[in-house]
Amino acid sequence: MIMRPNSIEARDAASQMHPMVNFRQYEKSGGLVIESGEGIYVFDNSGKRYIEAMAGLWSVAVGFSEPRLKEAACAQMDKLPYYHTFSYKTHGPSIELAEKLLELAPVPMSKVHFTSSGSEANDLTCKMVWYRSNALGKPDKKKIIGREKGYHGVTIAAGSITGLPLNHGSFDLPLDRMKHTSCPSYVHFGRPGETEAEFTRRMLQDLEDLIEREGPETIAAFWGEPVMGAGGVLIPPAGYWEGVQKILRKHDILLVADEVICGFGRTGKMFGCQSLGIEPDALVVSKQISSSYMPISAILVNDRFYQPIADESARIGSFGHGFTASGHPVAAAVALENIRIIEERDLVGNAAALSGQFKAGLEKLAEHPLVHSSRSLGLIGALEIHPWPDLPASTAAKAVAAMVEEEGVICRSVGEALCFCPPLIITGDQLDDLFAAVGRALDRLA
Ligand code: PLP
Repeated sequence: MIMRPNSIEARDAASQMHPMVNFRQYEKSGGLVIESGEGIYVFDNSGKRYIEAMAGLWSVAVGFSEPRLKEAACAQMDKLPYYHTFSYKTHGPSIELAEKLLELAPVPMSKVHFTSSGSEANDLTCKMVWYRSNALGKPDKKKIIGREKGYHGVTIAAGSITGLPLNHGSFDLPLDRMKHTSCPSYVHFGRPGETEAEFTRRMLQDLEDLIEREGPETIAAFWGEPVMGAGGVLIPPAGYWEGVQKILRKHDILLVADEVICGFGRTGKMFGCQSLGIEPDALVVSKQISSSYMPISAILVNDRFYQPIADESARIGSFGHGFTASGHPVAAAVALENIRIIEERDLVGNAAALSGQFKAGLEKLAEHPLVHSSRSLGLIGALEIHPWPDLPASTAAKAVAAMVEEEGVICRSVGEALCFCPPLIITGDQLDDLFAAVGRALDRLA
């Protein structure tokens, strides 16, 4: 793209440091200016329409023009635009949302704490894990196990639990307490001749070995996304989560499920934990909780997690943590309305009902000569391009650029994976349109 002087693109490039870009490249290329949205589509500043096949950032379940969310925000703005939840104060929207989350939780949970982003929620969960170990008189039980290619955000603790080198490089994150175990993606890390069952056993042995090496008494918690999203839609093999939980129970290690992408229907059940048989001690949610119309996230903890923390706050005199926007009433009201819509329109059922068509569409595209394989669960999936040795690197990135420019489709490449995560309101016909456009873009690249 060539930027005209004083164009909105040039003003943007001159004024902002955007997340997740090469700043030097951005200074030259600028970005795509999105101006409006309707259903599964967004429109740029020239009026061009795009299928938003990533639901924004894996997050806009109800699409880009839901009037009820606007009305819920306006009604709450009229009544009480802001109040906090610090120091023995509270308000209705945060109470109602906490109750709703506890009702929906995939396993019994005791309490909810609100934050505003997935990163903040993971960061605080990490602080609470440490606080809890101190409360239990186990000051050495502080290490956290994340996974290579896991993504939990970018704040200091969350970024350290993340297992993607790009999010570590040059930031001097305090990684020493954070250990990373192997990524359970068979397509990427299976060895030649290794069956999926053998691969799963090796992944579990890697975890067991890491715990033994570090000392089980030093490890406080294990962090995992049910399906890894930002790492490239990596779906663990059968038996993986069951095995992980057995190991964690044996060593008295807490399990934190990061449902920031999977939560609220993405995998065809309300939570990814339900699709994969995970029973966590803490659950981190954000994104589809409000369809990202307002920034809000939450941590749900069970009694085993909560009780020692409550005792410690009483011993110290107060739980010394909170954000000005924790449980923000407008964000909470929007999240509540968003969850009502997900339930009333059975968007979780829609994801489950369309999951077969979604899988079949990706499998058909996997027959394309540029594509090695496909994977999906519910309405999250990917096409893997990379393993062909004769293809130039970054074919997936080129495919993404071609889709945006020539087909009006926004999707995302992670390494050589093309990722798809459409709004949960998508229809079967719209899925067909999406995959036809992807096929045409791949044909032009082949
Ligand atoms: N956890 C997971 C699984 C995510 O995918 C993300 C963001 O993509 C985060 C945490 C961080 O959320 P946020 O960008 O709101 O800080």
